[in-house]
This record gives sequence, C-alpha cells and structure tokens, in this order.
Amino acid sequence: MNHADRFRYTADRLDRLADVPTDSLAHIVIRDAACIDALTAEDPPELTGEDAADRELAARLCSGCPVQEECLELELRWTGAHTAGVFGALPDKDRRALYPYWRARRTRRYRGGDQR
Ligand code: SF4
Repeated sequence: MNHADRFRYTADRLDRLADVPTDSLAHIVIRDAACIDALTAEDPPELTGEDAADRELAARLCSGCPVQEECLELELRWTGAHTAGVFGALPDKDRRALYPYWRARRTRRYRGGDQR
C-alpha cells in the first residue's frame, strides 16, 4: 500500500466518527486516553524536551491507546493541517498529509457544510 492509499484508507476508517459531535469525541478521548493515564500516573514517564525522544515516547503511548481513531479525528477537526506533535498514533507530518484526504471526504459527505 503506498502513502496515498494508506491516507485514503485511514480517512475512510474515520468516516465512522463523522457524525459524532466534537464535544462527545473530546469527552471519550479525555476519559480513555493512554497518554493522560500515563502522564498523570504516580510515576509518569518523563518528557525530555528533546523532540526525537519525546516523539518516541508519545508514539509508544499511542501504540497502546484504545482511542487512537477518536484522537486522530479530534485532532483533524481541531487543528487540521496546522497540527504538531504526535496524536492518534501519527506524527504531525503524516497528519498534515492525511488532512486533505480527510477533508475531501468530509466536504463530499456534507456537501460543503461544516461538521464541527
Ligand atoms: S492516541 Fe496518543 S495522543 Fe491520542 S489520546 Fe491516545 S495516547 Fe494520547
């Protein structure tokens, strides 16, 4: 599967969340996020302030997170192409590349309306 196919596939999967209100998605993510659990634990993993190390830690947390798709959908809605950091188990470069595919599907779905 090439990059374009992968982004189309991901955007397609996110369609299941298209009609979920943004505040409901936010509630689900805040309730079940692996990163919030980890960072508020008694012995939280330490952020180093170094980009590569912190991205690796975020990716590791995301890999075991039960709300990856909800988080990704939320991040695409909230920040679109202006996203930074690791969310939804994807680094910002991949989310910026995914955004046009996601946006095109939503535009077609709502015929130009805004789902937020
Ligand atoms: S996917 Fe990653 S950034 Fe999103 S809630 Fe889960 S752990 Fe946090």
